[in-house]
Amino acid sequence: MEERKETRTVVCRCPFCEAEIEAAVDMPAFCQPCQIVIVTCTACGGAAREGSERCPHCGEPLGAR
Ligand SMILES: [Zn+2]
Ligand SMILES: [Zn+2]
Repeated sequence: MEERKETRTVVCRCPFCEAEIEAAVDMPAFCQPCQIVIVTCTACGGAAREGSERCPHCGEPLGAR
């Protein structure tokens, strides 16, 4: 029996260089041109740079889990 695991991907846009990034749904996206990881803000859904303290869009603290 073979179980096929489908990796769902989404395309998001890097807020810094406007490059389109394809990433798995549950994974942070990595922007190759910027060499940074893009995370999605849980509060507003906007893209933010991993490591930043707050979302640049709504000001919510990032990484608070
Ligand atoms: Zn970028
Ligand atoms: Zn936000």
